Amino acid sequence: MERISKGFGFGCMRLPVLDESNLKTFDHAKIEALFDEFLRRGFTYFDTAYTYHGYDGELAVKKALTDRYPRSAYQLASKLPLRDFTDRDSMAQIFESQLERCGVDYFDYYLLHNMGHNVYAKCCKYDAFGFARQKKAEGKIRMLGMSFHDTPELLEEILQKYGDGLDFLQLQINYADWEHPTVQSRRCLELANRYGKPVIVMEPCKGGTLANLPLEAEALMKAYSPDASPASWAMRFAAGQPGVFLVLSGMNSMAQLYDNTDTFEHFTPLNDDEMAIIREVVRIIDANTAVACTACGYCTHDCPKRIPIPRYFSLYNSIMRTTGSFSSQAVYYRNTVLAGFGKAGDCIGCGRCERACPQHLPIRMHLKQVADKFDGGLPKTAK
Ligand code: SF4
Ligand code: SF4
Repeated sequence: MERISKGFGFGCMRLPVLDESNLKTFDHAKIEALFDEFLRRGFTYFDTAYTYHGYDGELAVKKALTDRYPRSAYQLASKLPLRDFTDRDSMAQIFESQLERCGVDYFDYYLLHNMGHNVYAKCCKYDAFGFARQKKAEGKIRMLGMSFHDTPELLEEILQKYGDGLDFLQLQINYADWEHPTVQSRRCLELANRYGKPVIVMEPCKGGTLANLPLEAEALMKAYSPDASPASWAMRFAAGQPGVFLVLSGMNSMAQLYDNTDTFEHFTPLNDDEMAIIREVVRIIDANTAVACTACGYCTHDCPKRIPIPRYFSLYNSIMRTTGSFSSQAVYYRNTVLAGFGKAGDCIGCGRCERACPQHLPIRMHLKQVADKFDGGLPKTAK
């Protein structure tokens, strides 16, 4: 598949918000400014989903993009929420509501969202693949794909059974997950290439982790290329892989947007020296990362105790990387417990979060670690 949108798309999973504790408080002015500049620079691909931003993400994209630009100015991707549909009728209802919420008559790209063992049987039972193919035949989908977060073995099974109907795959590919046992980026990409499926990359920066490296790792990159950001290394790694025709990344600031679009405007793959540096950076990251969370937020939807899991893991990672623990403890209290969310120690172990986690993290075990680290330091009234 030829490169579109200069090989780079705007991921809309984490759009700017006014209040970090409420994903629906969109900063519409900022979103519009980012989309405008993205388009002005010649990039045209936008990726949203039914479930993003507490199920309101498509509405924000409509307001900033499809209400303000002619249909020919952009390509829009959205996704069928495999966790949410209950039968064939609900699939159809969700799909029609998505067209309306996005303000379009068709999707340029449409994906079965977050495919994995937890939803595969349901997709087979209700023939989600056949449903999506039908929508493509009706002209409501131009290109049909699947975003995938599971083992290469399951990916191959799906490709054998349903691959003929899929035009592309969306895979989590970044240098930290390249050989990671739970993500296995390399093996999944090799399968996509073997089955002739062009690939869109998601999580090239692993939820921002690869844009904020441990200082020791960043120093290695700066010594080789003083002006290049860590994010640009991650983008070049992902975009340089065989079979990749588009890389997605979310952007919250103009600085990020300028940096990423510059990377793709003047794209060059990593050379052998840079790949050697990447391998050393991976070693440093692995030694410094306590919880490999990408902050996708999927785990929080059904948590009965309203625990902001990715936020706690981010705080935990930052406290484990530094010796200055006071600020993280204060943030834990101010923006989480004080804001009305559950503490890490409130977890009742129901396991709903783990069933939703595309990274297959042992969330309950990590929350115990977070509770050990932070809950003891709370004011008495919050315990
Ligand atoms: S196991 Fe704990 S964190 Fe996960 S959904 Fe249940 S209560 Fe929430
Ligand atoms: S714990 Fe898993 S599901 Fe939750 S935000 Fe992190 S990666 Fe996503």
